[in-house]
Amino acid sequence: MSAQFMVVPLGVAHAQRSVPIVRDAEIEALVSEYARPILKAAGLSRSGIQIVLVNDPGFNAFVAGRRIFVNTGALMASETPNEIIGVIAHEAGHIAGGHQERLRQQLERAQTMAVVAALLGIGAGIAGAAANADGMAQAGAGLAIGGSEMARRGLLGYQRGEEMTADRSALTYLQATGQSAKGMLTTFERFASSMALAGVNVDPYQISHPMPRERIANLETLARQSPYFDRKDPAELQLRHDLMRAKIAAYTDGPSGAARLFRNDPRGMPALYGDAISTLLYGNPRTAIEKADRLIAAMPGNAYFHELRGDALIKANRAVEAADAYAKAIRLDKSRSGLLQVGYGQALLATGKPDLVRKAAAEMQAGLSREPEFANGYRYLAQAYGQIGDIASAELATAEGHYQAGQYQDAKIFAARAQMKFKRGSPGWLRAQDIIELKTPKRR
Ligand SMILES: [Zn+2]
Repeated sequence: MSAQFMVVPLGVAHAQRSVPIVRDAEIEALVSEYARPILKAAGLSRSGIQIVLVNDPGFNAFVAGRRIFVNTGALMASETPNEIIGVIAHEAGHIAGGHQERLRQQLERAQTMAVVAALLGIGAGIAGAAANADGMAQAGAGLAIGGSEMARRGLLGYQRGEEMTADRSALTYLQATGQSAKGMLTTFERFASSMALAGVNVDPYQISHPMPRERIANLETLARQSPYFDRKDPAELQLRHDLMRAKIAAYTDGPSGAARLFRNDPRGMPALYGDAISTLLYGNPRTAIEKADRLIAAMPGNAYFHELRGDALIKANRAVEAADAYAKAIRLDKSRSGLLQVGYGQALLATGKPDLVRKAAAEMQAGLSREPEFANGYRYLAQAYGQIGDIASAELATAEGHYQAGQYQDAKIFAARAQMKFKRGSPGWLRAQDIIELKTPKRR
């Protein structure tokens, strides 16, 4: 399925709130590509960078260990890849400089949803409840405290000296990767000028990274010394960036969101892509299929156009064709996203044909093994197992979904049910045991 601007409910009895994490293969792949060379230049390379997209219109982005948290608002606001790459470079500079080390260690250990809850100031109680209970109750408590404090102080408050250090490091990484620091400068200038309008559009990023004029001036002088200062992002990358922005606009800014964003080029691919997605979301699925077909005719190698076509076919109750469209998307997706594989499985499941439903379970299981935190995916996996009569696996999948969503009580209940049906010591039995043995986090 395409971008899931989903709301993940957390199991906190007295305060049922949600953490808006977006899962989307296209956006995650692109932001990973932006980050990878920078992190490598910063000596922070690790296998498997995880991009966490937060559905929030404010500008925020930061790196914690292997996870990069970025608001959809920041992606929309950045007109070029270079602007986002610059912000990632600056954040990498903070990590390499060891700034806010203690807090970062807590974030590293905490469950993704707990971090996002803390970032958005959703509440210390939720941050505590969602923190990984896997013998890390202490880290959870620390994050809960850090979370409320972060919310008060505007996330990660850096010292002025640390900002200068991070800027200089960012320049080094951009230089090493042959990229311009112009985007970073553009973003920071934008903040500096909106900062002057007191109280207007104060973004969390702005509060945590003080941007006095002299810092910007200093940065500009250094940035201009680079032979790459005027180097532009490759056209192919700029197009992917704009396609991503069109998608976010279509999902977050209503039926004409993408049209507004690309009003200067209404016949360009980004505008057409945004329009096709809007039609899928708000219009007739048959028209959405036609629009997806036109996009594919223009760019047959774009995996996400096929994914969009699959989404539209599902909505039009043409599950067999949808499965074909997802299969094509998977073949074209260089990032090998588990999300697409789950989408493929959903289409196979929707066919209702026993052999295809069996295949659906296998595909979704494989996709989720690469994307274990994709909580919504387990619901479909459970359905598939249910339909083929494998009730133990269905219950284990349900348990896993609750576990990944931070709903530990429900997770344990389903794990216990699953365990009774599995053979003692089998892989399913052992996984159920892992879930059952978690300590319940303290409620507040
Ligand atoms: Zn900073």
